[in-house]
Amino acid sequence: MSYLGPGSELVLNRLLRALAEGRVTDIISSYEKYTNHYFFQPSIQHDVPVTESEIISALEHLGDTGILAGEESQSRYCVECFGVDVELAAKCPSCNSSKVYYGKVMTHRCGFRDIEEAFGSSGKWICPQCKEGIYSPYEECKVEGPIYKCRSCNSFFDAPKSCYVCRDCGQVYEMGEEPYVRIRKYKPTPILTALRDDIISSYRLFDALCDQFQKNKYEVKKAVLSDQDETTVYWDALAKKGKSKYGLLVLSPSERLDVVTAERIIAKKRTSNLGAAAVITSQKASAIVQGKLRREKISILNPEKSMLTSESEIRKVASEIAPELS
Ligand SMILES: [Zn+2]
Ligand SMILES: [Zn+2]
Ligand SMILES: [Zn+2]
Repeated sequence: MSYLGPGSELVLNRLLRALAEGRVTDIISSYEKYTNHYFFQPSIQHDVPVTESEIISALEHLGDTGILAGEESQSRYCVECFGVDVELAAKCPSCNSSKVYYGKVMTHRCGFRDIEEAFGSSGKWICPQCKEGIYSPYEECKVEGPIYKCRSCNSFFDAPKSCYVCRDCGQVYEMGEEPYVRIRKYKPTPILTALRDDIISSYRLFDALCDQFQKNKYEVKKAVLSDQDETTVYWDALAKKGKSKYGLLVLSPSERLDVVTAERIIAKKRTSNLGAAAVITSQKASAIVQGKLRREKISILNPEKSMLTSESEIRKVASEIAPELS
């Protein structure tokens, strides 16, 4: 699985929580080619400093892990009139006009050459140049085609240039320059439904621990992108009082609590220079992972019902991170 940067981690956790709690039911990512911008619904960027690509990575991660299913559609539109009737059309290679005729071309024996319809209709053919009636076009004229003729500059050609034309206002777009919106709609899958209770209880424990730190006069910041020595790391919360500084992380159920993840969390804790930290997860870690984290003063907290209903239980859990909270 691809490594998620700190901004993507923030987006991932925020979305998972909102989806689990039912505050968000689907996510729409629209790419508008004309402005080369993404728009997200719900708006994810309005209150957090994350980039478009960080949001996209988080959504792709949720798609790759099967938590969300994405469905894509694309529609062309006209930037001049906002019409959506933009279609592929043929264009004259000489003058770029889209008024292109495609059909038979006749050359009369007097030398006049034009499209079939210029000679009139079947049975009543007349050469517009010499005014002679034509009884049998195939005997009296050279018939070619079908080929193209430009109605604007009157040139003949075998292959037109392709372009997109707005049927409403006539605006012409070169191939590859036609404006379009690509919409990707992400919806939760049964995997998310199965993880829902775990996510909700993880965040309940998280909220209760944050409250506990606040009650003890800690300054608690949530959803933090913390910069240290040019490295940015993500914490779901940082609690600070004087020289004591602790970090809380809710592990996305899309990430395994394995040795790689443990090492990543250890590196984060070192970067942020924390006294201790905790990972909240419903996953059970192996003895190796537990040992690794314990040596670095990182506790693994499994949310259990009993601890979520009792203040003293929460205090006990909090004191696993910060002993002074006991
Ligand atoms: Zn003629
Ligand atoms: Zn032309
Ligand atoms: Zn238009």
